[in-house]
Amino acid sequence: MYSGYHSDQLSHSSSPPRVEISNVGREPFNVSSTTEILTKALEGRSITQEQACELLSSGDLDSILVTADRIRHRTKLGRIVTYSRKVFINLVNLCRDSCSYCTYKKEPGDALLSMLDPSQTLAIAEMGKKYRCTEALIVTGERPEQKYAEARAWLKSTGHSSTIEYIADISETILRKTGLLPHTNSGSLTKKEMRLLKATNVSLGVMLESSSERLTSSGMAHEHAPSKNPKVRMRTIEGAGELKIPMTTGLLVGIGETQEELVDSLFSIKSLSEKYGHIQEVIMQNFAPKTYTGMAQALPATPEFFLKTVALSRIVMPEMNIQVPPNLNPKIFGNFLDAGINDWGGISPVTIDHVNPEFQWPTIEMLKEPMEKRRYTLRARLPVYPEFFKGKALDGFISERLQNYINFLADETGLVKEEYINWG
Ligand code: SF4
Repeated sequence: MYSGYHSDQLSHSSSPPRVEISNVGREPFNVSSTTEILTKALEGRSITQEQACELLSSGDLDSILVTADRIRHRTKLGRIVTYSRKVFINLVNLCRDSCSYCTYKKEPGDALLSMLDPSQTLAIAEMGKKYRCTEALIVTGERPEQKYAEARAWLKSTGHSSTIEYIADISETILRKTGLLPHTNSGSLTKKEMRLLKATNVSLGVMLESSSERLTSSGMAHEHAPSKNPKVRMRTIEGAGELKIPMTTGLLVGIGETQEELVDSLFSIKSLSEKYGHIQEVIMQNFAPKTYTGMAQALPATPEFFLKTVALSRIVMPEMNIQVPPNLNPKIFGNFLDAGINDWGGISPVTIDHVNPEFQWPTIEMLKEPMEKRRYTLRARLPVYPEFFKGKALDGFISERLQNYINFLADETGLVKEEYINWG
């Protein structure tokens, strides 16, 4: 029995997981086949989607964790776990779509409505520079100008007609005046829009969340969010691959998907990564129900189940950078180290997590505590991973101009220079 959880977390384990599984057409779980699948993974052979489903439905969490951990240690990742020192620029939180779990999206008149002008945006980035951040994370709702006159007026006041044009300009200003490297998460994007952003953004982000179209049907999490249709999200990720843009994506676990759909989501990302080589990291995020949302009463995945999905992501994608945001699991985040992760994502000494404001970032000291027990070293990374710009870097992903900005911040390993963080 995996014993990484404190007893207060284990008390949740009696609740049924939010995610259900259908056993129709599948043999019941058996120990020997789980062992065979894990042995196959340890031998460096890819497991099939069906075998991944079998692992996810198995009760053998310990063996799955041990396997994920051993696979992680066989990769180039060594004993380093990274984070990105960032500022979170909440550019505009109006959104055309409505997901049933979202509290990020605001309405005109809301006290927490954000529509930043260029000087406010630059002020945040400058504060980030003062605190030795290297990432300017620019986040918006999905195409707010399509729904709100207020968004159109705001864009007009900045001299733009679309959110993406504004992001392209503000990214240029941030890059030139602060040297922070922009990374935009603005939902589903067209190739034309991504081409525009590639000039200034070292990478882009869009969560797949789930490959299940069923979640767009009546009563489900994405019923009122056309941009979350997996076909649309996959098109964005695929477009980024064609344009050679390093891409962050990931899963939101526990929003109504079945276990088969969850596994299918992992394999969808794996297949895009194999085709284009542009997926730089996979975020494994657990859904947390929030009051005043349509899914306030929905049961989240149990900690054990979520831990198993994280380990499975490592087994399915042995070389991938796998990230779990620590602030969403404040008491137990260290346990994800046992499931093979190698990144904590963005941590900010300056701004809050505007998507999950109720969850504070841990301090660097808090992050280090469970890591030191497990003999891991924490290092700051850039919002683009070294494999896209260092050594035998993948060709065409980073322009010469962006490479110059990167060179100022990165050491010979491609991680952030220690003297940059400790300076001043
Ligand atoms: S698309 Fe993003 S911002 Fe818009 S409602 Fe969904 S989760 Fe919220």
